[in-house]
Amino acid sequence: MKLNDFQEAKRRISIEYFFENWLGTAPGKSAGRYSICPECGPSNDNNKVSIRNGYFTCFKCGAKGDVIEAAALHFKTTAKNAVNLLLGQNDSLASRSEVPKVAPKTHAPPLPNKALLGCIAYIFSHGRIPHASHIEYLHSRGIGDKAIEFAINRGFMRFLPHDNSRANYIWLKESLGIERLRAAGLVKPDKDFASIAYRPLVFISNDQCAAEFRLIKPAREGESKTICYGLGSHYYFLDQKRDYALVCEGPIDMLSAYELGLKGNIIGIPGVQKSKVEWFHQYSQIILALDHDEAGLKQTALLQEQLAANNIKCYLFDFNGKDLNEHLMATRPPNK
Ligand SMILES: [Zn+2]
Repeated sequence: MKLNDFQEAKRRISIEYFFENWLGTAPGKSAGRYSICPECGPSNDNNKVSIRNGYFTCFKCGAKGDVIEAAALHFKTTAKNAVNLLLGQNDSLASRSEVPKVAPKTHAPPLPNKALLGCIAYIFSHGRIPHASHIEYLHSRGIGDKAIEFAINRGFMRFLPHDNSRANYIWLKESLGIERLRAAGLVKPDKDFASIAYRPLVFISNDQCAAEFRLIKPAREGESKTICYGLGSHYYFLDQKRDYALVCEGPIDMLSAYELGLKGNIIGIPGVQKSKVEWFHQYSQIILALDHDEAGLKQTALLQEQLAANNIKCYLFDFNGKDLNEHLMATRPPNK
């Protein structure tokens, strides 16, 4: 670790970006105000935390500091490890889950497998460039260049760099090492290939604790379209000025929602049964757009009840077809 890494981490990741993308919060109604604190967690108070000139201050618990101190508090680790996390230097992630300095807070997720975190961080920082075949697939799902660029810039979408699984597997092995891939669970102990190498489209949850790897061609019989690793964190796009959010199932529906021109925050839940009403506390209105299938309808009914119990207004997004992507494809056929 060089002293410069501290400066580099601050230069690359603004504290606002950290709050919005890593802590997962929309700014409050006033500029520079947030409802979540890396120390005392989320709340209903949109003015709880103030950010000015690269420093945050929490008026509730008194925590304050720069982006590195915020990351160290959030991940319960040292400043040095926080810098490495911010820079995506997976080599030093090994020490991330050393003895926590403070007792875990209820809002803090349990730490997932640290080798996996290192792999996700590496793909996050080195997988920004899509291959032509990745773009072609997204276009075939009705997702255009503007949505693609937005998702990349938001840190939500990443790629394994090649269009064939062999080259992707070699890239993974050379970049991360077979031992780390095995420790992360991405390569089974007795195998020398990774199923994710076949699934080059990668969606990373905002807290970087989970990733979904997706095929870009039709699944063969018995083959899974997606494989998810990590904790059941949610994914989302933020629109900074809105206090409402549309909730849908997973990354492709989120991109579809963006493509449909839906304004506001877009939240993708990682599997229909895994949504948590706490994720929605910071919004005054929630629009549900879960799939029109048995599981989706059941979860919709459950969330409607839970949101009402929390005084959050809830609406249903009216769409045709099974899911938002089908709705998008019906409204706007590809190659148009
Ligand atoms: Zn606080």
